[in-house]
Amino acid sequence: ARWTAEGGWETSEVLPYGPLQLSPAAAVLHYGQEIFEGLKAFRHADGSIWTFRPEVNAERLQRSARRLALPELPTEEFLASLRAVVAADEPWVPEATSEESLYLRPFMFASEEFLGVRASHTVDYYVIASPAGPYFPRGVQPLVVWITDEYARAGAGGTGAAKCGGNYASSLLGKREAAEHGADEVLFLDSETHTSIDELSGMNVFAVTRDGRLLTPALTGSILEGVTRASILRLAEDRGLGVSEQPLVMSEVLEQLASGEITEMFACGTAAVINPIGEFKAHGGTWTVGDGGSGETTLALRKELTDIQYGRIADRHGWLTRLV
Ligand code: PMP
Repeated sequence: ARWTAEGGWETSEVLPYGPLQLSPAAAVLHYGQEIFEGLKAFRHADGSIWTFRPEVNAERLQRSARRLALPELPTEEFLASLRAVVAADEPWVPEATSEESLYLRPFMFASEEFLGVRASHTVDYYVIASPAGPYFPRGVQPLVVWITDEYARAGAGGTGAAKCGGNYASSLLGKREAAEHGADEVLFLDSETHTSIDELSGMNVFAVTRDGRLLTPALTGSILEGVTRASILRLAEDRGLGVSEQPLVMSEVLEQLASGEITEMFACGTAAVINPIGEFKAHGGTWTVGDGGSGETTLALRKELTDIQYGRIADRHGWLTRLV
């Protein structure tokens, strides 16, 4: 679909997958005025196809749009775009038994041919799709996470809470640094005091305490408000686990790992669902989480969430929306 400052959103269409035509002066190529979302379509045993809490992604796309001076796509249009793409790509949605899904990537960018710095008067919105296997090649295995002391992903008053391409551009070097240290992922600390956990390059972070509480960084404006994060907080409450959104000071977390006060940690997001963190690495040390394996609470939450998504247990919170 295309939006213009004069006409608003125009009607959308389904096109064959292929290259886009864009002016070399398109605003997005110069100023990064771009936002996106990530969801999955799950096939259930009866063949029907569902997605998980798409209205939450629609609202996040609207918040991202406001922050990046892009037009808001109404929730109904967002849902219609997912339905149209999944209906067209229905054969590509993996079988229910495969534990795989069709990843959906809605994105919106400034397409006006214009070299001045101002919000674009022409904006394009697309959805592409791709079958998704496991996020990490080794499957659900504890992650090794590198704590970067050099790079921040987002700053106060910046775009950290928006899902915009620029945030990921700023995380790439940290991710490369992590890989060079043999880690799977990079952990960013808050950019103001450089002491508290913000998030990984594409996932929110949780800790489980010995006395059965679930801790996760509060939404301070520099981390993404994950759909998975919110859902886990809800499932944890249902299980009677105490939950607390609070600053997680990295040095204290490392001490609590050593003392056994924190027994499990995990990362979560749409792509990886829930993945245990087995070890932290930084300049100056290595810290094992629990026994370095997959914690009981982590795996139980992961199972419950994927069972809801694949329709294997009741959707008691009404989180699923049928697409096809
Ligand atoms: N943080 C970042 C930076 C992300 O890119 C993602 C993935 N969208 C998340 C957290 C997790 O968000 P969600 O659970 O909505 O996928």
